[in-house]
Amino acid sequence: MRSINVKEISNVVKELFIKACMEINEDLKEAFIKYRDREESEVGKAVFEQLLRNAEIAENESIPICQDTGFSVIFMEVGQDVTFTGGNMNSAIEEGVRAAYIEGYLRKSIVKNPLTAPENTKDNTPPIVHTEIVPGDRVKITVLPKGGGSENMSRIKMMKPADGVEGVKSFVIETVISAGANPCPPVIIGVGMGGTFDYVAFLAKKALLRKINERNADKKLAQYEVQWLDEINRLGIGPAGLGGRITALDLFIEVFPRHIASYPAAVNIQCHAARSKSYTL
Ligand code: SF4
Repeated sequence: MRSINVKEISNVVKELFIKACMEINEDLKEAFIKYRDREESEVGKAVFEQLLRNAEIAENESIPICQDTGFSVIFMEVGQDVTFTGGNMNSAIEEGVRAAYIEGYLRKSIVKNPLTAPENTKDNTPPIVHTEIVPGDRVKITVLPKGGGSENMSRIKMMKPADGVEGVKSFVIETVISAGANPCPPVIIGVGMGGTFDYVAFLAKKALLRKINERNADKKLAQYEVQWLDEINRLGIGPAGLGGRITALDLFIEVFPRHIASYPAAVNIQCHAARSKSYTL
């Protein structure tokens, strides 16, 4: 059994959120360059130039890529041979988020109670934490500050089994069309299929953690990812919704077994400020 002091978890969470909000990952930077060159609209090309320049300024000057530094979403893969010492794990994660948003001067976007006047929690807590127990004695922490604009355009649908994969495809395309410019395109699209009402939404969000061009290991699903992306990039929404070829940079599908009577589907849209960072302890 390996012991990890929860203080280490706090520190990692803090550093990851600050870094994620200020530095985009290499695969996203490369996608901006690749798609700028493929974009047919001059305005669209200019948007990609702006995104690259914005990323450069943010990284060089240690300022956020976008003013909306998101809901603090965390994915944890916890090895079953790990024990945590030194305090309460949930409190330690919250402490990491609190320190990141206060010390990193990141915008605090969370209100305490959805029913009452918008009183801010003032430290971006509580985070949403997804935990998976895995073999081994390591702990992998991935943070995903999720912007409100793109989250608002995400959808879930309990489809009928008879709708099948074609029904899911139509749902995905309709969701992107009705989102239009609102989720700050070029977007990345996470699709979940199967499981239950709650789990399919998790799948769609987890799909967003993949690197651009990282195809599903299942050949058929990989084929759908490419085909659906291609269809979306013929809609003409374009970068920043100003028209053009590139509406989405990638589309990822994650699946899970489903009940014979259900066909849950979810679309989680990620804006161009696609921020995530991981660390393994
Ligand atoms: S949707 Fe994304 S890019 Fe748009 S304002 Fe929110 S975080 Fe920023």
